[in-house]
Amino acid sequence: KNLPADPNPENSRRQVTQGFYSYVTPKETNKPQLLHVSDEMATELGLDQAETPSDNFLNLMTGNTILPETKPYAMVYGGHQFGNWAGQLGDGRAINLFEAEGKNQDWAVQLKGAGETPYSRSADGLAVLRSSIREYLMSEAMHHLGIPTTRALSLALTGDHVLRDVMYDGNPAYEKGAVVSRVAESFLRFGNYQIFTARNDVHRLQQLVDYTIETHFSHLGTPSKETYLKFFEEVTQRTLTMIIHWQRVGFVHGVMNTDNMSILGLTIDYGPYGWLEGFEWGWTPNTTDRQHKRYRYGNQPNIGLWNLYQLANALYPLVEESEGFEEILDSYKKEYAIKSLEMMADKLGITNPEEEDFQLIADLENCLQLTETDMTIFFRKWGDFKKDTSVDGFELIEEAFYAPNELTEEVKSQWTDWFSAYAKRLQQESRSDEERRIAMNRVNPKYVLRNYMAQLAIDAADEGDYSLIDTLYQMLKKPYEDQPEYQNWFAKRPEWARDKVGCSM
Ligand code: AMP
Ligand code: MG
Ligand code: MG
Repeated sequence: KNLPADPNPENSRRQVTQGFYSYVTPKETNKPQLLHVSDEMATELGLDQAETPSDNFLNLMTGNTILPETKPYAMVYGGHQFGNWAGQLGDGRAINLFEAEGKNQDWAVQLKGAGETPYSRSADGLAVLRSSIREYLMSEAMHHLGIPTTRALSLALTGDHVLRDVMYDGNPAYEKGAVVSRVAESFLRFGNYQIFTARNDVHRLQQLVDYTIETHFSHLGTPSKETYLKFFEEVTQRTLTMIIHWQRVGFVHGVMNTDNMSILGLTIDYGPYGWLEGFEWGWTPNTTDRQHKRYRYGNQPNIGLWNLYQLANALYPLVEESEGFEEILDSYKKEYAIKSLEMMADKLGITNPEEEDFQLIADLENCLQLTETDMTIFFRKWGDFKKDTSVDGFELIEEAFYAPNELTEEVKSQWTDWFSAYAKRLQQESRSDEERRIAMNRVNPKYVLRNYMAQLAIDAADEGDYSLIDTLYQMLKKPYEDQPEYQNWFAKRPEWARDKVGCSM
C-alpha cells in the first residue's frame, strides 16, 4: 500500500531493537465527536459527569491533545500468529497515553485507532466505527459477565474517513474512522516477552519480567529463578480461569495469537470474536480461520495451553531448567478437567459434581448438537426445571431450537433420556427448585451481545443514530438479571443474521 508519509517522524515504521517502546504522536483528527462514555470507568478514574462531555476530554480521547508531562508511546512485541512465529508486531494501532490512579487500582489508558506507530507494518494504524463499536460494547459487557477483560472508557468518531475495502468495480470504499479509549491494569502480552527471547536479548527479557513482577505480581516476592516459575504458574492459572469463563458463556475469541494473550489473563483484542448461538464445538467466528478452525470454540482450552508453551519457551532463559515449566504445563490439563466439570455443574445447578457427572454433561453437549440449539437460551431456561418433573422439558426449552422440524423421534428420544438422567441426578441435590434456579441464573447469562445485535447498533450508527449503542450498553450491565424491559433481546438470532459475523479491521 502507498500510505502517505506520517508528518511525525518518530511514528515511522521500523524494526525497534533497542527498546521496549517508542514515543509516538497520535494523529490529529478532523472533527472528533464523542459517541459514548462508560460512566463506570469514568467514575473509577475520578472523572465527574461534567468532565466527560467537555472538549478537553474529547480532544484527549481522540489524540488531538495530550496531557502535559505525558509522553504517549507504543510498545514492541512479537507473537505466534496462527501457529507461526511472526517476528516483530507491536502496538500498530494502539497508543498508550498515560497511567492513572483509579479509585480501586492503577490503570493504563490507551487509544486504539489513533494513527500509525513504528509497529503499524503495512497498515494505517486506524480503526473504523464498526470494529470500534464491537470492541467498546463487548469489553464492557465481558466485565459485567464477571470475565477478566480490558475495559473501555470512551468511543468517538474521528471525523476522518478510513479506507478498508476496494469494491469489485475498483472504487475505494471508505468507512467512518473511530477511536476507542481502552483501559487495563496492563496491556502486556505474551508476545512482549517472546520478542526478546527470539532476539536472544536475555537482558531486556529479564528487565521486563522483573518489572512485571514488581509492578503487577509483587505478592510473589523479589525476582529470582523460583519467582519466575511462580510467575509462570500464576499466568497459567489466570489464563485457564479466563478460558473457563469463555467456555461458560460461549464466547469465541477468534484470534488467540500469542500477541493477543494478556500476561494478566485478561480478555484482550476484540476483533473477529463471536458468540455461540447454536452450541457447536467446531464453530469459529473468524472467516479467515474457516479452513483449519484453529480458534474454534472447542479448541480454545488447547490453544490456551499451546500459547502457554510459547510463553514457557520465552521465559526459559531466565530459569534454564525445563522441569518446573513442564510440571506447571502438565497441571493445566488436570486443572482444566476439574474446573470445567465444576463450571458445567454450576451451569446445571449441581452442587457437588462427581466423576459420573462427566457423562451427564457429555450427553447434554451431544444433545445440544443434534439440531441447532441456542446455548444461552437453553441454559437460562433450564433453570426453571422442576425436581418433580412437573414441567415438560421440551416446553421449557422450546425457544432454544432453531430447527424444530429436525426434532425427529430419534432426536426427541435422546433428549428425553437426558431429561430423565438429569431429573434422577437432581434427587441427590438438597436445594429447592427455587434455590437452584437462582444459583443457575447467576452463571447462565440472560443477555449477551449476539453478533447481530452489535451489527444492528453498527448499521444504525452508520446512519447517524447512536441510541442503540446506549441501549445495549445499559442492558449488558446486568446480564444475569431478568430486566423485563429488555425481554425482546432474550431471543434466538433472527434468520437474516445467520452467518453474519463481525470483522476485526
Ligand atoms: P491483531 O490481529 O488485531 O492482533 O493484529 C496483529 C498486529 O497487527 C498487531 O501488531 C496490530 O497492532 C497490527 N494491526 C492490526 N490492525 C492494524 C491497523 N489497522 N494498523 C496498524 N496495525 C494494525
Ligand atoms: Mg492484537
Ligand atoms: Mg486486533
